[in-house]
Amino acid sequence: MQFQQTLKRPIACQGIGIHGGRPAHVIIKPAPANSGILFVRTDLPGSPVIPARSSRVVDSSLATTLGNDQAYVSTVEHLLAALAGLQIDNARIEVAGPEVPILDGSAGPFAALLQKAGIKTLRWPRAFFLLQRPLEIIDGDKYIRVEPAPAIKFTYSIDFPHPKIGCQKLTFVPRAKAFCREIAPARTFGFLHEVQRLQANGLALGGSLENAIVLDTTGVLNPEGLRFPDEFVRHKMLDLIGDLALLGWPLVGHLQVHKGSHALHQKFMETLLQQQDAWRLWIPETQPAWRPTLPVPQPLRLRTAMA
Ligand SMILES: [Zn+2]
Repeated sequence: MQFQQTLKRPIACQGIGIHGGRPAHVIIKPAPANSGILFVRTDLPGSPVIPARSSRVVDSSLATTLGNDQAYVSTVEHLLAALAGLQIDNARIEVAGPEVPILDGSAGPFAALLQKAGIKTLRWPRAFFLLQRPLEIIDGDKYIRVEPAPAIKFTYSIDFPHPKIGCQKLTFVPRAKAFCREIAPARTFGFLHEVQRLQANGLALGGSLENAIVLDTTGVLNPEGLRFPDEFVRHKMLDLIGDLALLGWPLVGHLQVHKGSHALHQKFMETLLQQQDAWRLWIPETQPAWRPTLPVPQPLRLRTAMA
C-alpha cells in the first residue's frame, strides 16, 4: 500500500507566461488527503478554484489549459508533471494570473522547489486505476495504447523529420529520483518557423531560447545545446506524465504512446474514463483503526471527471 503525499510547507516561484509573455507567479501549498491538485486564481474576485481534472481541460492545442465558467489557467502540464513525478497527490496551487510560469521550459525548477519544500506522507492510502483490458486510441499514424501490467510503465516514441530529432524512443518506470534525474530537466521544444508564426498571431510571446529548445531546419539554435541527446522524447514523456496527473490517481499498466500530443493525451483520458469496463478503481486495504473513516469520494469524483 502506498500513502498519499503533499508538501511539507508552501513554496513560491515566479517567471513569465510563455504565451502572454507577462509575469507569472505561483504559490504551491500543502493540501489535505483526498483533495487532489487544485488551481486557485487568486487574482480574480472570489478566487475561483479549478480542480486539475481531465474534465476541466478547455484547450490542449499548444499547452494544457484548465478552466471553468469563471476562470482558466494555462500551461499547467510541467508543474503537474513535477508533482506527479514526485508522487505528490494533494496540493493547492495559487496562480496570480492566467498562466503558470514557464521557467526554463522543463519541470526541473518545479521539481527542485518541491524537493526543497519537502514531502509529507499523509495517513490515507493512494488509490490506483487498475487496467482490466487493453485499450487503444488511434489517430492516423499516432496512437496511445495501454495494456494491463503489474506496475506502471510508459513507453514514448516520436518521429520528426529533422536531423537533430528523427526517431526517438524511451521507456520509463516512474520513480521520484529517476524522474528528477532523467525526465524533469528535459525542455519543451519548437521549430523557428512555428515560433515565428505563433508570435505573429500573438502567441508564444514569452518564448525564447531561455525557456525552449528552438530548432531551425538543420540544428538547435540554443548556444548551450541539448541537455540529453534525446531531450525531445524525454520532454514528451514529461508532458505525458503531467497530463496523466489529470486522471487524479495513477494508472497501473503499460502505456505506449507514438507521436502523441496534449490533445491525444486528453483524448486518451476521455476514452479511458468513458470505458468503465476497462479499469477499476482500487482503494487499498487500510489499517482497521482508521478504515471506518475512509471516505468514498472516488465514484463521485469520477462522475465529476466525466461531467
Ligand atoms: Zn511541455
